This record gives sequence, C-alpha cells and structure tokens, in this order.
Amino acid sequence: MASALEGSGHAPVESTGNADIVILNTCTVTAAADDDVRQTVRRVHRENPNANILITGCYAQRAPAELASLPGVRWVVGNSHKTTIPDILHDANASVDFHGEIHVGDIFAQQEFLSAPVEDGGDRSRPNLKIQDGCNNICTFCIIPHVRGRSRSATPEQVIDQVRALAGRYPEIVLSGINLGRWGRDAGRPFGFRLAGLIRRLLDETPVQRLRLSSIEPMDFSDDLLELMASSPRIAKHVHAPLQSGSDSVLKRMKRRYRIRHYADRLARARALMPKAAIGADVMVGFPGETEAEFEETYGFIEQQSFAYLHVFTYSERPGTPAAAERTQIPIPVRKRRNRLLRELGARKNAEFRSSLLGQPLSVVTLDRPLSALSDNFIPIELATPRPPNQVVTVYPDALSEKGLRERNPLRVLAG
Ligand code: SF4
Repeated sequence: MASALEGSGHAPVESTGNADIVILNTCTVTAAADDDVRQTVRRVHRENPNANILITGCYAQRAPAELASLPGVRWVVGNSHKTTIPDILHDANASVDFHGEIHVGDIFAQQEFLSAPVEDGGDRSRPNLKIQDGCNNICTFCIIPHVRGRSRSATPEQVIDQVRALAGRYPEIVLSGINLGRWGRDAGRPFGFRLAGLIRRLLDETPVQRLRLSSIEPMDFSDDLLELMASSPRIAKHVHAPLQSGSDSVLKRMKRRYRIRHYADRLARARALMPKAAIGADVMVGFPGETEAEFEETYGFIEQQSFAYLHVFTYSERPGTPAAAERTQIPIPVRKRRNRLLRELGARKNAEFRSSLLGQPLSVVTLDRPLSALSDNFIPIELATPRPPNQVVTVYPDALSEKGLRERNPLRVLAG
C-alpha cells in the first residue's frame, strides 16, 4: 500500500498528528484484535480530528458498517477492494466531505492473487514476502476464510522476481501466506509443481542466502518438503505447524484435517531430519465444549513432543463462525487458566530447547539493532561484539539470555 500510494503522489509523514489521511490495516482474528482497532481509531481521531481515517484489512471486510460509524472514519475498504485504495483517495480529492464511505465486495469472487510488489523490507532485516492468500478450509472457530476468500497463489515468476530483487539487499526472506502449504494448488491454475518445487526454483534461480517458511498446516509438511528443508543450508531450520489441540475429539469438532497421530508423525519426521530445528505450534485453549480431560490430553501431548516454542491463543467467539453459535462456551476464567498452564509449559520447553544448543555452532543473521541476531532455528541471539546488520555469520552461544542465547565472548574465554 505504501509503495502504491507514494507512486500516486502521496508522501508519508512522521506522525498521525501531521497526517491528512491515516490508513489502518486491520486484523479481526480475535475479539482482542477488534478492540485494538476501535481503540486506535478513537486515539487517532482524538490526536488529529482533521485526519481522514481509512480502515482496510480483515476487520473492514468482516464488519464495515461497525467501523464506518466510528469518529473520523471517512472510508472503509475491504480486502476485496484493497488494491483500489489509491483510486479511492484520488477520486476523493475533488469530492465533497463524506463520512463512512464503504467499499466492500464479495471476497469469494476474488480469483486473483492481489498484492503489490514489496519494494523493500521497511525497517526490517528480514522482509516478509506474501506469496499466497486465502484458505479453503473450514475450521469452525476461524473467521479468516470469510475475510480473505479462497486460496490463491502468486505466480512462480512473480515470486522469483521478488525474491531476486530482495535478495540483493537482505540475507533472509520470509515466505508467508494464510495457508502457505497450499501454494500452487489453486483450482484451474496448475503451475506443475507445489511449494517444494517453487523453493527449489528459488534456490536455483536467485542468490537468496536464507529462506524461512512461515506457518504451514501440518499435513502440508510432506516428506519432499521436509527433506528439501533438511538438505539445504539456505533454508532456515524452522518448522511452524499449527496444532490447535492435542485432543482428537476437539480437532474433530474444530474440523481440523488431521488427528494427533498424523501430527506426531510429521513432527517426528521433521525432528529426525533436522535435529536442531525450531519446531513450533499454535495452540488454542477454551474451544467450545473443551472438557478438562480434553485439555489434559492437549497438555500431555505437547509435553511429549519436542517443541521449541508454543504460541498459545485463547479462543474468542468470531461472529458468523459455527463455533461462536455453540452453547457450550467455556467460562473466561477457565480459558485464562488453561492459557497460563500452556504458556508455562511452552516456556519450559523453550528453555530446554535453548539449553540443548549451548556450545554448538549456530548460523545467524545480524539484525538492524545493536548486538542482535536471529539464528536459523529462530532463537534471538545477543552478540558478544557489534557487527554490521544483514550478515550471515556463525556464533557459539555459551549462556541463556532472557529469551534467547548469548554469544560466547572471546575476551571472556581468553580471560578464563
Ligand atoms: S487452516 Fe488456518 S486459516 Fe484456514 S480455516 Fe483453518 S485456522 Fe483458518
């Protein structure tokens, strides 16, 4: 959006206080995300009552009228119309003042992958390149398919061109999507290969130093993909596979497409091929009807697996989803307790994972923050000495830091 707007004559300003137009790109994945958006709109309007606020993204797609009534909101633009924002603003220049104009269409009618090219990584050392959007699954708790539409992929040529351009400036590129493992499986648009095939082409045809894959559904971690990840030092050893629940009965009610034995099989394969990989999962607590016994199944399953970290989410009702209509909603204090228990378990697993790597060589990318780097297996590293950003180097950690590992200080070794 930023590059499209700069191309049509707009310029960024330092703060919302100086802006003529403020654009908020929103999330609606949880009720908390919705609250954040509404609070932000009110804050922006308080700080700059003259600013015209444009709200876009997933919340705009889901509930445009709700947002259009907030103070200072001039436009609400759904994901269906996101790429037309420069035109909407251009047409508005000459128009009279108008409040709460809604541009939202049927997201399921969207067949094309629409995304502006990423010109640079902004202030990041590791730009995120979206190569897939939408999802064809129907997980009963999830609002995402309703706001992102059906799965669609960037073409191989688009991805290769983008990676080639970004690889000249950044050592690590993160490939992302709503359901990344479905890349290349759009109905009626066969590319002739799937995600693993695309990655092979990126390795062959671009100078990218490191590719990292963001979240991939467990059953899309095929043997082919895992073997490719294990075989190339240019692919980060990082497997993020959403679990959501470690109870088959909950997975069934969620309409997830695997059972825990399938999930465990994929994790075991990943671990066997990549002993030092960061393996992480999203887990949800408090899904409607989740009994104490089902929660304990989840806890026990996670305890047995070699996870490096967990992202724990508390279920929140998303209007329009089947789970929100269930009468067996779990009381909030119970959801919070289960969340706390899994977070504690995740922290313990994470500390064990980090401890297992002490003294071992780790390949890291140095970040644009003093003494900071990120290892290929996703551990924040505190460097012993300053290094320029965007370098791939090898470090030997010898201590745990609060959330990561600390590089061995050669001076300390000499002194010792
Ligand atoms: S696979 Fe992910 S994005 Fe798709 S419906 Fe399920 S939870 Fe939502």
